[in-house]
Amino acid sequence: MQTHLTVRGLVIRETPYKDSDKLFDLLTDSGIKTVQARSVRKPGSKYAAVTQLFSYGEFCLRISGDRCYLDSAVSLSAFYGIRNDLEALALASYCSELIRKTATDQPQPNLLRLFLLALHHLSEHDRPPALVKAVFELRLLTELGLMPNLVCCPVCLNYLPPHPVLRIHDADMICRDCRFERHPLDLEVTPSVLLAARQAVYPELDRIFQFRLKGESEAQFAAYAESYLLHQLRLSLPTLKFYRELHGGEPVSPLFQSPEDPFAE
Ligand SMILES: [Zn+2]
Repeated sequence: MQTHLTVRGLVIRETPYKDSDKLFDLLTDSGIKTVQARSVRKPGSKYAAVTQLFSYGEFCLRISGDRCYLDSAVSLSAFYGIRNDLEALALASYCSELIRKTATDQPQPNLLRLFLLALHHLSEHDRPPALVKAVFELRLLTELGLMPNLVCCPVCLNYLPPHPVLRIHDADMICRDCRFERHPLDLEVTPSVLLAARQAVYPELDRIFQFRLKGESEAQFAAYAESYLLHQLRLSLPTLKFYRELHGGEPVSPLFQSPEDPFAE
């Protein structure tokens, strides 16, 4: 028996299949669907563009048994700005790998919206790529139920201490002066970094990219987000390794030059 389904979705992986077909993974509000698109690799195929990696569109699908086939599709956004920008493309691929490796069978509607917002900023070049990456990392963890507790110092209850410490290991924050003992995964940051991390984690999705950071604070924020993500997920991520290589191979996070770094030799 066949059923039909119309969904909005983002292509997060594409693989050539048979002579001229393609299989693509479509991230939708109700999870990831693998779709077979017939003959789209033939010259002149009208669905070649909309089934490309990082294309967002409305897809009419035909479901037959455990297979899903493309009937037709309309493009809603192609994110052209990332296609000739190697750093943006590397980060989009990294986001895609994270989504695929953390996906569950349950509907996670915020993941599609989060990825679309990140692609929008990478494509428009209106935010530094390192900031887009860090916000995406922290918010993804939040959506997966791994949100750090950044409300206040658990000892003195100060909301915005002058010397905050973000504790990767304990998934929380504390004042430098209230800290009883140092952990190797503690990161002393500026108050701006604490505010940035809260902005990524707590508000509605549409507001999470609405801030700016400068110089040292931006580097600290990037280090915190990447370290926290690697510590929580313990994944090997080839796309992150590639992104690092674009930056001379240096880890964004100084913390993960330790043996805990999944990429350490
Ligand atoms: Zn305190």
